[in-house]
Amino acid sequence: MADFDLDLFVIGGGSGGVRAARIAATHGARVAIAEEYRMGGTCVIRGCVPKKLLVYASRFAHEFEDAAGFGWTVEGAKFDWPTLIANKDKEIARLEAAYRRNVGGAGAEIIDSRVVIEGPNTVRILKTGATLNAKYILVATGGHPSLLDIPGKELGITSNEAFHLKELPRRIVIQGGGFIAVEFACLFAGLGSKVTLVHRGDEILRGFDDDLRAHVRGEMVARGIDVRLNDTIQKIEDHKTHRCAFLSDGAAIEADQVMLAVGRSPNTKNIGLEAAGVKLAPSGAVAVDETSRSNVPSIYAIGDVSGRIALTPVAIREGHAVADTLFGNKPWNVDHKNVPSAVFSEPEIGTVGLSEVAAKKTGKHIDIYRTRFKPMKATLSGRDTAILMKLVVEQSTEKVLGVHIVGEGAAEMAQLAAIAVKMGATKQDFDNTVALHPTAAEELVTLRNKVAD
Ligand code: NDP
Repeated sequence: MADFDLDLFVIGGGSGGVRAARIAATHGARVAIAEEYRMGGTCVIRGCVPKKLLVYASRFAHEFEDAAGFGWTVEGAKFDWPTLIANKDKEIARLEAAYRRNVGGAGAEIIDSRVVIEGPNTVRILKTGATLNAKYILVATGGHPSLLDIPGKELGITSNEAFHLKELPRRIVIQGGGFIAVEFACLFAGLGSKVTLVHRGDEILRGFDDDLRAHVRGEMVARGIDVRLNDTIQKIEDHKTHRCAFLSDGAAIEADQVMLAVGRSPNTKNIGLEAAGVKLAPSGAVAVDETSRSNVPSIYAIGDVSGRIALTPVAIREGHAVADTLFGNKPWNVDHKNVPSAVFSEPEIGTVGLSEVAAKKTGKHIDIYRTRFKPMKATLSGRDTAILMKLVVEQSTEKVLGVHIVGEGAAEMAQLAAIAVKMGATKQDFDNTVALHPTAAEELVTLRNKVAD
């Protein structure tokens, strides 16, 4: 390794890159990590973390309403967007500093600059013009919001800008039916905005279980969100005091903001991947094998830029595995099966494993167990809402292949259900587990009746 300036050069200071740099340094490797913006990446700076803080803020409105049924009078409750944003920014700055401390403390050199790859082992630092060579290069550059090529697209915002708006939009139109569109639609609605969600498909949240998709949409509509399916924004106009979104169904909707949440694209442009001969997949992501290695043996890619599962904990594992494999004498690969996920909608989704449709596509015979019930809290609050729980079970082995939940605490439940699914638990194992009463989660171990085909 002595012929190289470094053992590992990590490009991108997001959660995955930071984990890889820190673990590699802990194994004794000479490591540098470059970040052109803020250490922490999408998740910490403009993704999961600030989003969840905004979600917490948005849920107070319902809590105040629900409190009345329990005897509370909440008078004079007021919401102030600038206070929320300022407090959120303070927390993000604290986390960013912690990221820097952790990775620097482990012995990795932090380079605050954009860099470009100049060859299989060479990286140029744009701020100084210096070049460094490294035995391995790890591309962990993440992704960015995709845009729509429509007139007035520059008037729209993406999730990047949504975290820094000067004021809460009174009215917002959001295009998209995925994670980001649904989460922002719900959080803006909770904070009091009038929300229109426009989605090109005939149901939101493609890829999730169909029962769960319909259920969440119903709950969103019940909370006042105008969900328009089979529709797209064709044009955005600036009308001085507001924007106007023109839809394919002929409607023109006035709003303070128009948000585009139509997917994210990997950051593979202008970072020299071509110069090094790195092959990209049709999606534009770096094509990698199960060890996260590209076609160039010295170049690896992890996280969103590698186009596998765009979730922070997955990127972190991929980075950890690369560092252990290359420098820790502990080779292992990430298992991308049964990764739990959540959508922090209102109510939220927690899910792990196969949807009913995906399970049936495997050709196996499948049993479905499903329940919809009114949460206990709603008995006194009077809120018209229901929890949905569904188990997808393989008939021959009784293995639980999928757990799908919509309701308060669904994400927390799915994290624990994921352990059982990952271990190959059967329906009988669920049934053998004593219920914890009174909870919503107890329904998962007391589901008795199969849904008839
Ligand atoms: P998604 O891929 O989840 O959703 C994109 C949405 O945009 C889909 O509804 C898609 O429709 C629609 N769309 C795509 N292209 C067009 C187009 N040209 N015109 C109109 N609509 C279009 O992406 P997101 O941006 O919401 O999120 C990106 C990723 O980030 C997620 O996949 C997820 O991995 C991650 N994420 C995770 C979160 C979490 O864990 N809670 C939260 C936020 C993001 P269609 O379905 O028809 O393709």
